[in-house]
Amino acid sequence: MTLYITCMGDDEMKKAKKYIPTASYTHYGETKPVEIKPVETENIYEKEACSCCGYLTIPVDTDGNKFDGFICPVCFWEIDTFINSENEESDSNGGLTLVQARLNYRTFGACDKRMLQYVRKPTDDEK
Ligand SMILES: [Zn+2]
Repeated sequence: MTLYITCMGDDEMKKAKKYIPTASYTHYGETKPVEIKPVETENIYEKEACSCCGYLTIPVDTDGNKFDGFICPVCFWEIDTFINSENEESDSNGGLTLVQARLNYRTFGACDKRMLQYVRKPTDDEK
């Protein structure tokens, strides 16, 4: 069995406005997609409020550093430590700004409409 993970380059990604990597595997000549989900790191680190939805979903290490590339399971905003303001386009989030992502979350429940299928409701200890 072979697992393939495809990640697009930055330019390609911006053009396609896609930021979820696609993965598939081939088993006995049959290629099947692999479901990509955000990583949940329960009970390991302190949690900080997500800069998009505001729920306590973002793990921080003992030095207070956020995990670059962590995807919030509640709104699907990807932590981007390279943006300096909420109006700056986030490459990790397909060119979305934090302002737009927050508005999207309040409007329909995910940072981007295509991410609605992946999000979940916040748990009690994330509120
Ligand atoms: Zn969030």
